[in-house]
Amino acid sequence: MKIPSGKKFYAAAMPLIFIAVAMPAKLLQVPGEALRYRDIFMVSAIISLMVYLLVEKSRYRKNHLAFVSKTGKEQAIGIKFSSNAAKFFHSKAKHKQELMDTEEKYRLIIQNSTDVITLIDSQGIIKYQSPALEKITGFAPYELSGKSVIDFIHPEDSVRVSQQLLNGISRDGKTSPLISHRILHKNGSWVCIESHGTSHLAMPGINGIIINSRDVTEREIQRKQLEDANAQLKILFENVHEAFFSVDLVNNKILQISPAHGNIYGRGKKEFYDNINLWSEVIHPEDKYLVHGMDKNIESGIPFATEYRIIKKDGTIRWIENKITPTLNNEKRPIRIDGVISDITERKEADEQIKEQFRALQKTNYELDRFVYSVSHDLRAPLTSIMGIINLAELEHQTEQQKRYLEMIQFSINRLDSFIKHILSYSKNAKSEITSEPIDFIELLAEIRANLKFVKGTERMKIKAHINQAIPFRSDRMRLAIIFNNLFSNAIKYQDINKNDSYISLDIVTTENEARITVEDNGIGIDKKYLNKIFKMFYRVSSIAPGAGLGLYIVKEATHKLGGDINADSVVGEKTVFKITIPNK
Ligand code: ADP
Repeated sequence: MKIPSGKKFYAAAMPLIFIAVAMPAKLLQVPGEALRYRDIFMVSAIISLMVYLLVEKSRYRKNHLAFVSKTGKEQAIGIKFSSNAAKFFHSKAKHKQELMDTEEKYRLIIQNSTDVITLIDSQGIIKYQSPALEKITGFAPYELSGKSVIDFIHPEDSVRVSQQLLNGISRDGKTSPLISHRILHKNGSWVCIESHGTSHLAMPGINGIIINSRDVTEREIQRKQLEDANAQLKILFENVHEAFFSVDLVNNKILQISPAHGNIYGRGKKEFYDNINLWSEVIHPEDKYLVHGMDKNIESGIPFATEYRIIKKDGTIRWIENKITPTLNNEKRPIRIDGVISDITERKEADEQIKEQFRALQKTNYELDRFVYSVSHDLRAPLTSIMGIINLAELEHQTEQQKRYLEMIQFSINRLDSFIKHILSYSKNAKSEITSEPIDFIELLAEIRANLKFVKGTERMKIKAHINQAIPFRSDRMRLAIIFNNLFSNAIKYQDINKNDSYISLDIVTTENEARITVEDNGIGIDKKYLNKIFKMFYRVSSIAPGAGLGLYIVKEATHKLGGDINADSVVGEKTVFKITIPNK
């Protein structure tokens, strides 16, 4: 049978029950005083209510099973078939469940929150402590429960914390401002936290003060470091010899100025604050032009430095260096400059002294070169005469002894002559200006050959030249001649007399950028271990020929003067190769 639902069922059941109770009472002739209709009505009402509740309860039980089950589907079935009473119980149960869910939710939030939540009573006794505190202080919640919160606050902070908290929570529901203080760590150290409390003393179920706290140790450390760094900067700012300044260009206002201005300018900070133009007013009149470009530099936003003289208050003149760092805004307009000014007078004077010494040294060098040149030049004339006389003497009849003496004189004279020639080359290279003229290597080679014509041993040497000068080449002819003369004369001097085919091979290629020159001979060669020394002044490897160890030094100097480079390679008893590059000027 289908059970009518709701009010319909109740309406139908009431008269039936009434009849069911009243009829037997009438039939059994129960006296009117003993059982009146009002009583019958009351009894039937009570019975019908009980029936109603019994029926609905049995239904609710059936529906409640579905309700508590976990799947959403079953919950839907329960709701669909529930009657009014079932809905009543259902909603109550649902409310209870929701309450439980909410409690669970809040419990989880509190337990997992990194913020620490503490509930204390009006006496400061800890009633609840969230687990987050353990991470910060090492104390588990149970270790604090029932203890006074004040015992865990740093003694230097406790009075202040109590006052701030109590003042802040003057009435229920009011939250105190943030209070920074230290709390005890289980290991005995102190941890910086920040807390605020809210009074819920009058709220049933809480009756206490809820305190929210957060670990700010890291932040405090950083703040302390920042404070220390600022303090150090301040010390620097106040004490370094350099003067610092910052100017707000928008409002044409000095932001800060360091005390060192007093030493550098002889004027106190106040004078600059009173007159922002003082910096430029004290620039030496002759140096004012040096700072004219400053505005443009500032507009560029790129740091720059200027050196100029200033006139101090006592009239003395000092050199300063002003290093400025401009700051631009988003529209690339300068809004601020920060500068460092240092007194560089000593450095400038030292620079000037060095320049003066350099000029004096240059002058001395020049005079020395002139002296060496003229002496060498003057020495050559009598030397040439001596050589001529020796040549004449050789034509005369000589004894063997005289012949040997003449040879010895000849050897020494040649040596002296070679030395003087080298000195002359060196002087020429050192003192004369570098020129740039068209070079015809074939013509230059002819000149070198002519110069070496009378050098002993030339007659045995074959000169093989490969000159590829398709691209015109310009350089300093005199220095090129010095280079070739020395390399050729060495090749002749250090030829291998045991070979019948002694030669000098010259290879020249010109390009837009340079001339690449290779001079090779098949003479005695140079041991590789000496190759890095042969370009040094007065360094000699072999003494089979007269020399002073100057030839290759002069070659290297001349090559470098022309902006070129030279290197040597050799195989003893086989060959010596010099490779030179000279820029095309
Ligand atoms: P010097 O010829 O006056 O000794 P250099 O500076 O011209 O001085 O040469 C340095 C040394 O290098 C020489 O003593 C010689 O031993 C060696 N040397 C230079 N050129 C050659 C060469 N073409 N073949 C072999 N040895 C050489």
